[in-house]
Amino acid sequence: MEPQVIEDALCPACGKKTLRTVVVEKELPHFGRAVIMTSKCRSCGYTHTDVIELEDRGHKTDRLDVDAPEKLNYVVVRASSGRLEIPESGLELHPGPFSNGFITTVEGVLDRFEDALRKVIPETEEARKRKEELLEWIKRAKDGKERFTLILEDPRGVSGIIPPGDVPSLRERGESPPPRGQ
Ligand SMILES: [Zn+2]
Repeated sequence: MEPQVIEDALCPACGKKTLRTVVVEKELPHFGRAVIMTSKCRSCGYTHTDVIELEDRGHKTDRLDVDAPEKLNYVVVRASSGRLEIPESGLELHPGPFSNGFITTVEGVLDRFEDALRKVIPETEEARKRKEELLEWIKRAKDGKERFTLILEDPRGVSGIIPPGDVPSLRERGESPPPRGQ
């Protein structure tokens, strides 16, 4: 399928008909054929990305034990329905109406948590300390000095964590995936 462009759609953020959406169909390792949609509003700058798998997989949870710096290069495909969590640090990213899907690496996920944290303005001394601690934790994690678990849960089964350069023939379908990278 050639990339398709939808012009002048209604923007969910500002209500103007200035939303441009690019739709691309791709074969993703572990996911099969998926549609990637990227929207941008030229009035208000609203952007939205989503990954829609063409098959229904049902509820799925992936866990990656990040116990070596190489694991920071694992690929994270997060649809807007996916919930990301690092229990060791208490960091969580919940799906929501303005939630974006993205494809990045484990390190990229840490960058996103860092960006989101930097935008938070703490109202109490306690919250300020917690923010500093979390930023320190993320820095150590990016340097490979923290061992942690990345959990990606998706009721639509679209999101997932896959090894870099993994071959499509290894992809599993249906049931919970075997431990990876062991
Ligand atoms: Zn807009």
